[in-house]
Amino acid sequence: MLPFAIKKLFFYAYQKGMMKMFGCVFCQVAAHEKPAKILYEDELCLVLQDINPKAPVHLLVIPRNHITSLNDDLENDKALLGHMLTVVGRMAKEQGIDGTGYRTVINTNAEAGQTVFHLHLHILGGRMLHWPPG
Ligand code: 5GP
Ligand code: ZN
Repeated sequence: MLPFAIKKLFFYAYQKGMMKMFGCVFCQVAAHEKPAKILYEDELCLVLQDINPKAPVHLLVIPRNHITSLNDDLENDKALLGHMLTVVGRMAKEQGIDGTGYRTVINTNAEAGQTVFHLHLHILGGRMLHWPPG
C-alpha cells in the first residue's frame, strides 16, 4: 500500500498536469491545440460554442487552467469563478439573449451529466427553456 501522502501527490499531479497529456479536450482548446469556435478569451477564461448545441445559443465558459469540477478545492480560484460569471453577462448581451433570458448550468459528476471533466459553465438561450431540467 502506498502511503496516503504519496497517493495524494499522484492525484494532485493527475488533476493539475497530467490531464492535458491524457487528452483533456478543453485544455487542448485553451492551448489552441484543438479547433473550436472561440468567441472570447482573456488571461483567465475562454468562451466557445458547444460542439453539440442544445439550444440556438449554447456557449461554454471554461477556465484557461485545468479545474476538474466544482468538487475541486477552489479556495484560491474565487476571483476566477467571479470573473467567469461576469463574462456570462457580457456574452449574453453580445448574443442578444440577455433580454429574452438564458440559463447558466454547471454539471458536476455523472448523475448531473458531466461528460467533460474540465470545469465549464454552459450558457443556453434563444428558445424557451423548461423547468425543472430533465
Ligand atoms: P457536460 O456534459 O460535461 O456538462 O458538457 C460538456 C459539453 O461539452 C457538451 O455539451 C458537449 O457537447 C461539449 N463538448 C464536448 N467535446 C467538445 C469539443 O471538443 N468541443 C466543443 N466545442 N464542445 C465540446
Ligand atoms: Zn483540462
